[in-house]
Amino acid sequence: MIVKPMVRSNICINAHPAGCAREVVNQIDYVKAKTAKRAAAGQSVGKSAKNAPKAVLVLGCSTGYGLASRISAAFAYGAATVGVSFEKEGTEGKSGTPGFYNNLAFDRASAAAGIPCKTVNGDAFSDAIRAQVIDIAKAMKIKFDLVVYSIASPVRTDPDTGVLYKSALKPIGKPYTGATVDPMTGKIGSMSAEPANDQEAADTVKVMGGEDWERWIAQLTAAGVLATGCATVAYSYVGPTHTHAIYRDGTIGGAKKHLEKTARAMSERMKATIGGDAFVSVNKGLVTRSSAVIPVIPMYLSLLFRVMKDKGTHEGCIEQMERLFAERLYAGSAVPVDADRLIRIDDWEMDPSVQAEVSKRMARLADEADQEKREALLAELGDLAGYRHDFLAANGFDVAGIDYDADVPRMNEI
Ligand code: NAD
Repeated sequence: MIVKPMVRSNICINAHPAGCAREVVNQIDYVKAKTAKRAAAGQSVGKSAKNAPKAVLVLGCSTGYGLASRISAAFAYGAATVGVSFEKEGTEGKSGTPGFYNNLAFDRASAAAGIPCKTVNGDAFSDAIRAQVIDIAKAMKIKFDLVVYSIASPVRTDPDTGVLYKSALKPIGKPYTGATVDPMTGKIGSMSAEPANDQEAADTVKVMGGEDWERWIAQLTAAGVLATGCATVAYSYVGPTHTHAIYRDGTIGGAKKHLEKTARAMSERMKATIGGDAFVSVNKGLVTRSSAVIPVIPMYLSLLFRVMKDKGTHEGCIEQMERLFAERLYAGSAVPVDADRLIRIDDWEMDPSVQAEVSKRMARLADEADQEKREALLAELGDLAGYRHDFLAANGFDVAGIDYDADVPRMNEI
């Protein structure tokens, strides 16, 4: 069959197997080339880096930041990896989710490079999957020296009570109206959200806060599968003030603040028990499957990308995670953190000169009342084409070198 993108309400509902696989290979090639460059420049990287990770568990391994973390661990450091994600498998005639194809591509490349890996498809919030990962670590005779927590999910079942919690993407305290942009057409719209009630805010913390991460570390520690000195890192976003009402000061930000508080508590415990540590890394805002549906974010990101590309500091998931590993986690000295104990790999996004320019462009767009002129202005001031490419490439479309008119015989393989 011929596979073309099917986009509904800012979500791409199918994936291209060969396109997804190529994107994984591109990320692997990037990491290998960058590691070689760092080594040539005399930096301590790769297997010989001080404290280089030998075995890494990635929760949320199939797309976005989790996939890029797994690729960095395996292909910059040669680390054995165990990955957990929750993806729909393709069938012979029907598309699976992109992460299904990404996992197949990662496993294939890892095996070809002789790097041990095991991928688990299932609900990471369940104790059954935790038990499965523990069994796998024992069977592989590995102890993790890094656990990456990169899960983004709209729902979570509490394993103690069986209650299903749903997260909300809402402001807190007052309604929010923000501009949205359709990445496919460049059409600007507006989206309003009523403020969350206390229950919705608490439920979002249940899903995206630190409770599940803490449970993972507790059970892995008890099972003896964490190495002495093991670190764990989860990901957060802060972003500039234009996005705070819906993100940092909204329900999702409340969950992220809980995650950050959890890291501070876990850090103390891990230091005392296994000489380890827990961190939250604040990453750059990027187009992944989760971020495309948040109001204002696509417009902000398309302006941000233009400004950062012009300055030469734009990064995607893989550039961010390669830098997180090489310049923060495994740079050979104490992991640098800010006053709130956060790793800041969003430093180039938050560069005051970048933010001043993005704010200026946001204000120019807000001042233009005429819809058509506003859309033309966004096309000029922003990087909608780049945004659209990233949006499609996350599903294996618009990837260079892939023939999208070629027949795809089966949708359950790459
Ligand atoms: P993503 O949607 O690309 O990836 C989410 C991953 O979680 C996938 O591997 C998916 O399979 C997995 N997952 C979801 N539910 C699961 C479940 N029940 N069991 C097992 N796996 C499950 O998301 P992303 O954008 O890479 O986000 C990852 C983390 O990074 C999140 O914490 C997010 O808040 C954070 N972050 C994202 C951005 C951004 O702009 N995208 C910026 C900063 C931080």
